[in-house]
Amino acid sequence: MLTEQDLPWLAEPLATWRDGQRGHALILHGGMGSGLFELSLRLAQAWLCEQPPGPCDHCPSCHLAQAHTHPDLKVVLPEAWAQKLQWGGEDGDGEVADSEGKSKKKASRDIRVEAVRQAIDWAHSSSGRGRGKVLVFFPADAMNTVSANALLKTLEEPGQGMRIILAVEDPEHLLPTLRSRCQRLRLVPPSAPQALDWLERQGVKDGAALLQAAGGEPLAAQELAQEGVTGAQWASLPQQLLQADARWLSTWPVPRALRALQQLCHDLMASATGATPRYFPADSLPPVTDWRALADWSRELARVQRHADHPWQGPLLIEALLTQGRLAIHPPAGRRGYT
Ligand SMILES: [Zn+2]
Repeated sequence: MLTEQDLPWLAEPLATWRDGQRGHALILHGGMGSGLFELSLRLAQAWLCEQPPGPCDHCPSCHLAQAHTHPDLKVVLPEAWAQKLQWGGEDGDGEVADSEGKSKKKASRDIRVEAVRQAIDWAHSSSGRGRGKVLVFFPADAMNTVSANALLKTLEEPGQGMRIILAVEDPEHLLPTLRSRCQRLRLVPPSAPQALDWLERQGVKDGAALLQAAGGEPLAAQELAQEGVTGAQWASLPQQLLQADARWLSTWPVPRALRALQQLCHDLMASATGATPRYFPADSLPPVTDWRALADWSRELARVQRHADHPWQGPLLIEALLTQGRLAIHPPAGRRGYT
């Protein structure tokens, strides 16, 4: 598990929140690619540490937390995230492969209702090691309405010494009834120089371009590099849109390719309204000639995104989306200039 030694920008919020929180229910929000999960776990470990101020990483409690076997720490996450984060336990039984390696079951991106009910039962049982208990939901917006409602009473009347962390990118994705019962703390991503310095020490090439592609989140930039994306490839994406050339993009998993198209659409809109693009170099973006087509494209991308776990025909889908996006910057004859 990554710690604040690995991700130095987590040290300050960890120390502040460890000592300063009197509330028992917290919403931690910020970028997954800035270490939201890691910070949630370190905060939980710090509260349970037997040699405060923790986490000391040496006491029996810290060892149990690091081995994912602490009786007073429960982490509830969807199967898909459990796999990605290599988090074991009863909720991490996601995709099952048979002896030939074929996938039988797609890992769920939702937190199961049963998992939430089990967590609530656990929350109201007694503490094992006497330093209280911590329950973490990640990402908390993976709970459906039924699950979120089941949790309300526990948030209002937690057991003795109980703390609950709802970790989420955007708190607005949570039910208002959950939000109103929690104190909010925001994880601020590291400054660009700090993030670039960190990426360089991880051996990531094209750090600046990939950091921009990742919206300033260093772990996400590192992941792009590990997937083989280069700065030059990223910067060429607007050109690929102009030519509706899906060869490179269609080699990506569909959700990743969709996200890239949404980022490109976002930046085309920003640039068309005179705002600063967030993910692409400003000079790489072609002018928008058909604003309405761009808005249609944005809606279509959002619609497809909601169903991104469907077994789409990946390359065909991406090609169709590229062709639609191209219309906004390169409309057919007769529609040019139409707004
Ligand atoms: Zn400790």
